Amino acid sequence: MNHFEYQGNDLYCEDVAVKDIAAQVGTPFYLYSHATLSRHMQAFTSAFASVPHIVCYSIKANSNLAVLKTFVTLGSGFDMVSGGELFRAQQVGCDPQKIVYSGVGKTEPEIEAALNANILMFNVESPQELETIDRVAGRLGKKAGIAIRVNPDVDPQTHPYISTGMKQAKFGINISQALEDYRRAAAMPNLEVIGVDCHIGSQLTKLSPFVDAIKKIRELVETLKQEGFAIKYLDLGGGLGITYEDEEPPTPTDYAEAIIEATKGLDVTLIFEPGRMMVGNAGILAAKVLYVKEGEAKNFVIVDAAMNDLARPALYGSYQGIEPVDRSTKERMVADVVGPICESGDFLAQDREIPAFKQGDLIAVSSAGAYGFTMASNYNSRPRTPEVMVKGDQVLVIRQRETYDDLIKGESIPEGI
Ligand SMILES: *Cc1c(COP(=O)(O)O)cnc(C)c1O
Repeated sequence: MNHFEYQGNDLYCEDVAVKDIAAQVGTPFYLYSHATLSRHMQAFTSAFASVPHIVCYSIKANSNLAVLKTFVTLGSGFDMVSGGELFRAQQVGCDPQKIVYSGVGKTEPEIEAALNANILMFNVESPQELETIDRVAGRLGKKAGIAIRVNPDVDPQTHPYISTGMKQAKFGINISQALEDYRRAAAMPNLEVIGVDCHIGSQLTKLSPFVDAIKKIRELVETLKQEGFAIKYLDLGGGLGITYEDEEPPTPTDYAEAIIEATKGLDVTLIFEPGRMMVGNAGILAAKVLYVKEGEAKNFVIVDAAMNDLARPALYGSYQGIEPVDRSTKERMVADVVGPICESGDFLAQDREIPAFKQGDLIAVSSAGAYGFTMASNYNSRPRTPEVMVKGDQVLVIRQRETYDDLIKGESIPEGI
């Protein structure tokens, strides 16, 4: 459910016509619906209302400050993966006791900043990281709350690049080795073992991998408790999928029912790190058709947004919907929708049946709210797009379009070059 709908032939975001925003800010631009963001957060939290839980929205899916603030206002915490994300969390006044820190490569300065911020828990991904956190915490005279990110070796049945919980993955510590590392952690003076963590992948459209993972993790939690560990938190990561094309992912209610059943009797506070499901369908990327080129083998609709703005199709070959901003044209065509970048991988859609777009038409790339702007780059020296949020009838520019001066910020030409 989202608030991008047609009124007559015009695509609206809540109460505002997308074409009016394009006239105001130019193209391309990302557009987010505040009501949709709120609705997703509320649907998720209310599904888990019957059990102790903390929602830690995964910042990397969409890290715009206005999006983060929307979630903090609704009581959310954050899952962060870098010092930069901690900085963002602090900008929006997130309660640090609702922040968890994941990632295989935390640096000492990042660990130090997180300890100084007094975050709830580090999700530790290697034995050496345990030692580093212990050492940094000792130096600061602090105790670090930790969970070990356990790799349950479950196939999430999703794209290989976003599968994270199998033996071959760089993430986490294999479940067979976890107990030993928990014992080592317990002996480290500046660590406080408070949780168990797992995150098996992203864009999961079935419940069974989640349930299978919990079955394995449950045994570990029980063993740890028997050994006297005070496990207070079970962090189940994120990963719930969304509809891009015709996927039918579980609803938050279905997901919650399965999880609540699978964790029954464990007596822990559940932590969730949803990213994509909160923001994916709350955003579009709007772009303008520059040229329509009819080739011998293929037709191309060349638009002013590209792989630097939205990397998912190029990176994962993933599907993004292409919708007209004005749907009055009934004629159809089959074409690749491509950007101006000098790479054959620069496409937003391939061999897609779409409306017969003409030069100057506006298109909406749907489901672009997650891993869209956050993966954007300046490749081909393209300034990054603005981000706009609509709330009711308000159009709020929440990030300005970058300028050419932004492109060269920090660069210099040393004398003699
Ligand atoms: C990316 C990530 C998430 C969010 O995943 P989604 O599929 O967007 O819900 C949660 N936890 C960790 C550790 C992650 O790396």
